[in-house]
Amino acid sequence: MSSRFIPYGKQFINNEDIKEVVNVLKSDFITQGEKISQFEKKLAEYCGAQYAVVFNSGTSALHGAYFSLGLSENDEFITTPITFVATSNAGLYLGAKPVFLDIESDTGNIDVKEIEEKITEKTKLISVVHYSGHPVDMEKVKQIANKHGLKIVEDACHALGAKYKGEKIGSCKYSNATVFSFHPVKHITTGEGGAVLTNDKEIYEKLLMFRNHRITKNSNKFLNKPDGDWYYEMQFLGYNYRMTDIQASLGISQLKKLDSFVKRRREIAKIYNEAFKDNPYFDTPVEKDYAFHSYHLYPIRLKDEYKEKKKEIFEYLRKGGIGVQVHYIPVYRQPFYQKLGYKKGLCPNAEDFYEREISLPIYPAMSDEDIDFVINLQFLN
Ligand SMILES: *Cc1c(COP(=O)(O)O)cnc(C)c1O
Repeated sequence: MSSRFIPYGKQFINNEDIKEVVNVLKSDFITQGEKISQFEKKLAEYCGAQYAVVFNSGTSALHGAYFSLGLSENDEFITTPITFVATSNAGLYLGAKPVFLDIESDTGNIDVKEIEEKITEKTKLISVVHYSGHPVDMEKVKQIANKHGLKIVEDACHALGAKYKGEKIGSCKYSNATVFSFHPVKHITTGEGGAVLTNDKEIYEKLLMFRNHRITKNSNKFLNKPDGDWYYEMQFLGYNYRMTDIQASLGISQLKKLDSFVKRRREIAKIYNEAFKDNPYFDTPVEKDYAFHSYHLYPIRLKDEYKEKKKEIFEYLRKGGIGVQVHYIPVYRQPFYQKLGYKKGLCPNAEDFYEREISLPIYPAMSDEDIDFVINLQFLN
């Protein structure tokens, strides 16, 4: 038994970050100042997109992205069950119905080959998740979406810093909008936070309004005659999904370190891949030729002989000081989704993936000793 405990992921915050946040705390504006638009500009630049709109979480950013693409009541959207519940919940907020697509057993991403089978007259958009930081084969998704007139959202909450065919995730080259999260376990953090990137000005403007109660101060858009210079209008129901300047300043500072964070994650993955190459228990993550993996997670998959022992292995690793986690329980297996009528067996590969998957620790602040500790722990009693 060891006193060391290595979580599966955590933030990296240094004095430079802290200084930036303190500066904002001492300034006149702790929210709705200039840090928000600075962070948005830098984020858009980094990803190679025209616009970024930051939100107070990845979940609210997803809500905004789906809304701005017109997802609404009685629409269907195609997505993956191997994700955090927010990916499909955000569509439910708008009254739309998630249609779960099965996954590829190696990457854990949606099986692009099966998208067309799920398309109906009600399908409005496809929401893909770059699971663990490995991009989905977006060119193929885009071909299908174009053919059927569907919109594409990339839930890239795992994939900031990843690339698809040499292009940064977030460039929106193959999608209408891309969503990121800045939760502490993600690539960069603002405490809580998220963003939507897009190249479409109309979507951009909808996002800005959606984030701020759908209030407009643009006199060209007013329905009523303005009472004076103070006048603003709320024509539709919106939300307060704003990020603070305190958070944005942390985001700006974190973004400077993003490339080094991704580099370290990839280094750790390489060391793991090498160390676990011939192990009898599990398969290691793959990286397809079109992918530059950003390793938000390092998901291993137990081989047939050990699948039945997952619970035991998980407990053993936890007791040994390795903070393993499981990503994910297929979303439609949640009681809330069961009540909506989704049945066990809907996506057999996803259920099989869930029975095998364990996420090992991977984060930039991991020391070489931490890595050795993970590698050297016996896998089973
Ligand atoms: C983290 C995450 C979200 C939600 O982000 P929050 O910032 O926690 O709201 C959505 N989708 C995926 C795939 C995530 O990993």
